[in-house]
Amino acid sequence: MSGSSAFAPFSLPGGRVLPDVTSRPRTGSWRSGGRPAADLRSCVNCLLCWAYCPDRAVLTRDAVFVGIDYDLCKACEICVAVCPVDAIQMVPEEAEIQPVKGGGNDGAHRRT
Ligand code: SF4
Ligand code: SF4
Repeated sequence: MSGSSAFAPFSLPGGRVLPDVTSRPRTGSWRSGGRPAADLRSCVNCLLCWAYCPDRAVLTRDAVFVGIDYDLCKACEICVAVCPVDAIQMVPEEAEIQPVKGGGNDGAHRRT
């Protein structure tokens, strides 16, 4: 097959994806080995985690990082790798996550 138009969205540098390119299968509870948790006090809102998350699990509100949707997150750890200030770390699945007031769902959190 020649040309790249059919697969162009999947060829962005760094594996980035465009909004709505990916389907949004909900993982529910099959994730293993922990989940990412962000310390919003450390976050500088560069939104690299949002840009690189392959599953669109990083949540924003008014262009501000607010957390992670654990129904979508597959725990690939890309957000952990790209965060320039180490604001995101993997924690055990059962770790307590403190909701942030106004966060909107259980993905908006503050690491304890
Ligand atoms: S661990 Fe992977 S899927 Fe989950 S929020 Fe981070 S980049 Fe997205
Ligand atoms: S990559 Fe890190 S600093 Fe940037 S928005 Fe995400 S959590 Fe915040």
